[in-house]
Amino acid sequence: MIHVVGAGLAGLVAAHALARAGRPVTLHEATPGAGGRARALPDGTDNGTHALVGANRAALAFLSAIGAREHWIEPEPEGLPVLDLADGSARRVALSPLGWWRADRRPEGASPAALAALLGMALPGRDRTIAEAMAAHPAFLRGFVDPLTIAALNTPSAEASTRRLGQVLRRLGGPGAARLYVARRGLGPDLVAPALAALQAMGVRYLPESRLRRVTQSGGQARVLHFHEEEIALGAEDRVILALPPWEAVRLLTHVDAPDRFAPIVNLHFARGGPGPVRFIGMLGALCQWVLVRPEGVSVTVSAGDAEAGEDAESLAPRAWGEILRAAMAFRLPGEWPIAPPACRVVKERRATPRHTPGPIPSPARQPLANLALAGDWTWPALPATLEAATRSGLAAARAVQA
Ligand SMILES: Cc1cc2nc3c(=O)[nH]c(=O)nc-3n(C[C@H](O)[C@H](O)[C@H](O)COP(=O)(O)OP(=O)(O)OC[C@H]3O[C@@H](n4cnc5c(N)ncnc54)[C@H](O)[C@@H]3O)c2cc1C
Repeated sequence: MIHVVGAGLAGLVAAHALARAGRPVTLHEATPGAGGRARALPDGTDNGTHALVGANRAALAFLSAIGAREHWIEPEPEGLPVLDLADGSARRVALSPLGWWRADRRPEGASPAALAALLGMALPGRDRTIAEAMAAHPAFLRGFVDPLTIAALNTPSAEASTRRLGQVLRRLGGPGAARLYVARRGLGPDLVAPALAALQAMGVRYLPESRLRRVTQSGGQARVLHFHEEEIALGAEDRVILALPPWEAVRLLTHVDAPDRFAPIVNLHFARGGPGPVRFIGMLGALCQWVLVRPEGVSVTVSAGDAEAGEDAESLAPRAWGEILRAAMAFRLPGEWPIAPPACRVVKERRATPRHTPGPIPSPARQPLANLALAGDWTWPALPATLEAATRSGLAAARAVQA
C-alpha cells in the first residue's frame, strides 16, 4: 500500500499517478475536504482565485487527465484589461513580451532599457531584490514587473528575489506560455471534485478527517504512521508520501530543509456576479490587484497582503467595492452594479506561500527516508510555490516511491 498524506494538489497528483500505474493507494487528509490551499469553502466559494498560465504544462496536463481541462478557460484572450487608479487610464496589456510589438498592448515604461533589465533578471546572475534590479525603470516596475512579481511570487518587489522571478520569466517566453486560465465555475467543481472522482474511479481509498499526528522512524525508515483514528504499521512493501505544507513536514520529520517565512493572500468574495462572460481585470494603485467576475460572484485578490491581513471586512469591503465599480465602468461590464457593497466574505490565507526572497532556495531531499518521499509546492526548488510546482512535486514523489 502507498499512503499519500495530504490531499492538496501535490497529494492528489501523486495519488493519481500511482493509481494510474496500478499501485494500491490510500489518501489521507486532515480536513473534511480536499484541495488544501486551492480548495472550495463549505459554501462553494474558492478560498482564493487561482490562475494558471500556458507555461504550467504539468498542472494543465493533470487537469486533462482528470477530465477538467475544458473547465479552465481563458477569460482575456485579447490581453489583460488593466485599470490604473492613479490616472483612470484603462488599457489592455499583453502578458508576454512577444505581444508587445503592438504599442496598444505594451505596458507603461516598456523601453528598450527596461526590457533589457527584465531580460537580465531572466538570465542567471546575482540574486537581489527586484526593486533594486528595476530601480532605474520605475514606470515599468509599477506597471508590469511589480504586479507580475506579486502574482507569481506573492512577495513585494522590495523583498522579492530576482532569481525566483527569473524562474518564471524564462518559462513565459514560448508560444502560448503566457496565456492565462481560470476555473470557469470554481476550484470545487473544476479541480477538486473531478480529481476525487478520478481517484475514486481508479480505486483509491480516500480518508478525509484523517490527520497524521506522528511518524515513528528507525533505521532510516518510517515504521508507524500515527493518525488520530488509527495507527498503521508499515510493512516492507509499503511506502509513504507526505504531501504536506512545510510546517507540517518539519513537525513530523527532523532535518527538513524547508522555508520558514510565509506571506499572506487576502481574498474578498462579493455575492454579486456579472451576467456576462467570465472576466479577469488587473488594477494598479489599488487595494484590488485582480478582479475575477463570474456569474456567481466577484472575487478580489490581494497577494502579499501583509497589511490587509490585519484589516477587518468592514474596512476592506467598501474600499474594494468602490474600486470594482470603477473597473466595471471602465471596461463596460454588463449588468447592474449597485453603489452599496453587496455581502462580502473575506478569506485570509496567512501562510499562502513562502516568501520568495533572495538567498539560498530550500531544497529538501525528495526521499528523506528509504520508504518515504516528500511532495508539496515548496519541495520543487526550480519554481516558486505554485500549482505547477505542487503538480511537479507530486509526480516526482510518485516516481521516487516506485523506484
Ligand atoms: C489564496 C491563494 C491563492 C493562490 N493563487 C495561486 C495562483 O493563482 N496560481 C498558482 O499557481 N498558485 C496559487 N496559489 C498557491 C497554490 O495554492 C499552492 O501552491 C498549492 O495549492 C499547494 O499545494 P500543495 O499540495 O503543495 O499544498 P497544500 O495545498 O497546502 O496541501 C497540503 C494538504 O495537507 C493537508 N494536511 C496538513 N497537515 C496534515 C496532516 N498532519 N495530516 C494529513 N493531512 C494534512 C492539508 O489540509 C492540505 O489539504 C495560491 C494560494 C493561495 C492560498
